[in-house]
Parts: sequence; C-alpha cells; structure tokens
Amino acid sequence: MELVVESIFNTVKDKEFLRIAEKVLEGKRINQEEAVYLYKSNELTALGLIAEYINRKKNGMYAYFIVNRQINPTNVCMYQCDFCAFGVKKSDPRAYEMDMEEILKKVEELYQMGGREVHIVGGIPSYWNYDKYIEIVREVKKRFPDIIVKAWTAVEIHHMAKISGKSYQEVLTELKNAGLDALPGGGAEIFSDRVRQIIAPYKANAEEYLEVHKTAHKLGIPTNATMLYGHVETIEERVEHMEMLRKLQDETGGFQVFIPLAYWPEGTRLGGYRTSSVDDLKTIAISRIYLDNFDHIKAYWVTLGEKVAQVALNFGADDLDGTIQEEKIVHAAGTKSAYGHSVDKLVNLIKKSGKIPAERDTFYNVVKVYD
Ligand code: SF4
Repeated sequence: MELVVESIFNTVKDKEFLRIAEKVLEGKRINQEEAVYLYKSNELTALGLIAEYINRKKNGMYAYFIVNRQINPTNVCMYQCDFCAFGVKKSDPRAYEMDMEEILKKVEELYQMGGREVHIVGGIPSYWNYDKYIEIVREVKKRFPDIIVKAWTAVEIHHMAKISGKSYQEVLTELKNAGLDALPGGGAEIFSDRVRQIIAPYKANAEEYLEVHKTAHKLGIPTNATMLYGHVETIEERVEHMEMLRKLQDETGGFQVFIPLAYWPEGTRLGGYRTSSVDDLKTIAISRIYLDNFDHIKAYWVTLGEKVAQVALNFGADDLDGTIQEEKIVHAAGTKSAYGHSVDKLVNLIKKSGKIPAERDTFYNVVKVYD
C-alpha cells in the first residue's frame, strides 16, 4: 500500500495537492483551507489512495456491518423541513403511527434473526408527550434486554427537553435509565445557520445538536455524527461542519463514527438533484482525512447505493451500516437501494469490494469475521 500511495508523487502534477498529501501521510492534521482545496481538486484517484491508506492504518482490511433494524414509529412531524420527504402532516394520507405492540413485534423479528441493535428515530408529532419517548425505550429494553437500543436523534432529544422543561442532562439520564444505549447521528444536516434557515429553520440548530451530543458523551452514552450534503451548502460549509465535529471529538472522544449522507431530492419541497458519485467518493475520502480523531467512516449503502458504497470501502470508509430491514426515510426521497439486506448479501457486497466482512455490535466490538 505504501508504495502505491507514494506513486502519486510521480503521477500528480498539482504541487499544492502534493504538499497537502505529504502532510496527511506524515500524520499531520490538515486545516479547513486545505480540505477545501482537496475538494476542489480533480485528483480523485490520488485522494482515494490517501484516504484508504489512513483507513487501513486504523481498521486494516476489515469492513464492518451490523445485524440491525430501523424502526420509525411515526412519520408525522411538526417541523416540516424542506429537504425531508419522510415527515408529513397528520392529515396527509401517507401519515402512519405504530402502536407499542407493532414496535415490539418488529424488535422480536430482529431478535429471532440474531440481530443486535434497533435504531429508533422518526417524525416528531406535536401531540406526543415526553413520556411516550421514554416509554418506547423502556418497553423495548424490558422485553429484549440483549438488544442494544440506539434511539432518538439530537433533534428529538432537544424537542423532548423543550416540551418537558427538562435539561438535556435530565432527559438523557432518564432515557439511559430506561435502557438507552447509544444515540444515532441524525439531525446534523449542515451546521451552517445560512443553510439551516433554508432547509430546516425550525428544528434544533447546530449549537443545540452539538450540546446534546456533548452531554451524552459526558454521561457515557456514545453517539454517531452525520452530515447531509448535496443540497444548497457550499464546500466551505461542509468543511466547517467537519471542523465543528472534530473540535467536539477532541474534547469528548464520544463519537463512534462519521456518516456522510448524500441528499435525495425526490418528493421534497426543496427539490434539486442527486449528488454525483465523484462527489460522494470525495466526501468519504475527505472526511476520512479531515476527521483524524474518528475511528470509523460509514459508507451508508442506503444513500450511496450498493455499488458506490463498495467503491467507498476503498476510498477511506470502513463500515456499510447494517441489514436495516425496513428503511423508510431515504426511500421516501427516492433512493432505489433495497429496503434491507440479508447478512449473506452484505457479506457478499463487502467481499466483492476486496475487504474482509466483520460483523460488529453498536460499539464496534467485532462479533464475527467472515474470512
Ligand atoms: S427531517 Fe426530521 S424533523 Fe425534519 S421534517 Fe423530517 S422527520 Fe421531521
């Protein structure tokens, strides 16, 4: 690998790109201007090589996945973000709401197939009270103590604090006592105020998102981080987003993985176009290079599509997410990926990308290696 990486110094002619590459390969941290330069350069192959070199130092040839299930208890949402095709008004014919039995039945199905994690997030109905969120976590954990409960985004936690008058610390402590094990990364979108005013003006802002995660880390609750890219943001705003995450990670070390989420426009009020696969791969590679204090970068197969996700596993990503079983949020916005994948299918996808499939739990403990 090292010889191949060094070959970029013979093939790339862009001196500034080579200077930044050298810095990265020496293990030095790059700054925002340098990350923007990498984004704007056209050295895609060289960028992928550098990012993959960093990834292999951290994760070897493993590419991780988890046997998990997404549960979205409702799509009714009072926030109506313009980039989101999932959240609808209660009066919308597409509106649905699961009762507790339905939620537990879905967890049971996961449990029967040897699953390890439920990922529970959804719309935010104005008429749900605080206890409802706590109750869902408590019931799932009570019936399935072995299942890891990763639930509620920072946006939902912020909303819970708002409607209950409690602090983030109080809300998260109650959730933890009810059985919450980890927080997902959703709701970050792009931290820039300018962008949030356009795509999601009403929900938790950047400061609130980061404060929720910081509080969770202090309470020993690990969390994930995301970035929704490819709508109205600039490259500079993407890099600024990564910078804010890197800073918090320096402080707490509580993030487990960074997940770049490609925007899907179908059915949204915001509209626009799909990201290109070149942009997807650059974003994976640059996040791997920039976020030097994150152990893992996820190539989320639902938003990238299976084929780009396989290439991403050679551009710095080390994780595909999981079996998922029933993805609704990105499908509402038009993704053509499957709703879920079997373990066999994920193992096959990873093997054909040239990596070794490693089944993991939520905390990146390896459960089984499929050599
Ligand atoms: S992104 Fe989340 S908060 Fe915004 S409308 Fe969709 S479900 Fe609601």
